[in-house]
Amino acid sequence: MKKCTYFDYAATTPVDPTVLQTMLPYFSDEFGNPSSIHRWGQRAEAVLEKARVICAKLLNITPENVVFTSGGTESDNLALRGSALFQRKAIGADEVLITHVEHHAISHTARQLEAEFGFKLRFLPVNKYGMVDPSDVKKLISSKTALVSIIYGNNEVGTVNPIAEIGIICREMDIPFHSDAVQAAAHITMDMVRDNLTMLSIGAHKMYGPKGVGLLGINVSKGLIPAQTGGGQEFNLRAGTQNIPLIVGMSKAFELSQTEIGNRNKNLICLRDQLIAGVLDRIPDSFLTGHPEIRLPNHASFVFSSVDGNRLLMYLDSQGFACSSGSACKVGSPKPSNVLTSMGIKPELAIGSLRVTIGKETTEDQINDLTMAIESSVRLLRK
Ligand SMILES: *Cc1c(COP(=O)(O)O)cnc(C)c1O
Repeated sequence: MKKCTYFDYAATTPVDPTVLQTMLPYFSDEFGNPSSIHRWGQRAEAVLEKARVICAKLLNITPENVVFTSGGTESDNLALRGSALFQRKAIGADEVLITHVEHHAISHTARQLEAEFGFKLRFLPVNKYGMVDPSDVKKLISSKTALVSIIYGNNEVGTVNPIAEIGIICREMDIPFHSDAVQAAAHITMDMVRDNLTMLSIGAHKMYGPKGVGLLGINVSKGLIPAQTGGGQEFNLRAGTQNIPLIVGMSKAFELSQTEIGNRNKNLICLRDQLIAGVLDRIPDSFLTGHPEIRLPNHASFVFSSVDGNRLLMYLDSQGFACSSGSACKVGSPKPSNVLTSMGIKPELAIGSLRVTIGKETTEDQINDLTMAIESSVRLLRK
């Protein structure tokens, strides 16, 4: 069988064996519902609250401010819709401030707030690296702003935003500030107090945890309208019986990735920079997208002139390399990514995008093989 190498850790990661072992008992022996009064329930509740304490500590908030959800997408939905609806009811604010480089979980939720709920959507500009300038937040924020949401580490181009600085501006204006940290939480030490954040979204499967579980961290919330109603679970903010095995898995994965950040990042940055240098050196008319330094440690993204990014992905896949373009477009009718064009990259160039994201299993040999494969594929596609 042909050797296959995975370079798409920003899409999802394998569950860490330690995380899997930690989860297993809660599928079978320890199956209780944390809302039950009896001992099965009590044991499940104890485990749930232990996981909550772990996650709260890692975010530097109190446990009653951790809301477990079904993933990054749901956390983003709860933060955006919940806060926008609450703020409009409370103070009449009806503007939502986001960027053009958000994940669809934010941008499509914001679009729905505009189309179906009558909110006004305003966009913060980004520079050529896809980064927000805090002074633009200052310019656009007003008493009409219901909330501000800005991606922490970009999934498509890897750029990390100056979240703490923006947070100060929002705090001075007393306006809720949310960040989607689904990519960032695997690689950057999280601290909602340091970052002056009101809300923060995390999903477990981007940091060697299971799919279908996430959390919304809340720090000094004004209030939220629940996204899901029913029982009183999760402080009345997210109804439904908690998924104990997945929540336990997430708390373990989050703890492991945060405590091993130093070691993991050193290795990732070394390999990432080797890949970036190799690609830019060997391939003419190739460009790095996103910030050259202030970027996620495992993230390399490029554009190549005169290349269809989808064909490039297919060529690479046929040689056993699983990469991504970072955007979802169809083969045959290439459409440039909004994120790339909003950074000022020309559509013709944006079509030739490639995203390579590495993980704790990636080796130097794999990076060398991939670099050569990208070079030969681009050359073939340009013929
Ligand atoms: C993956 C991702 C999401 C969605 O998270 P899920 O847990 O898959 O729902 C949201 N935002 C960003 C930046 C992501 O990378």
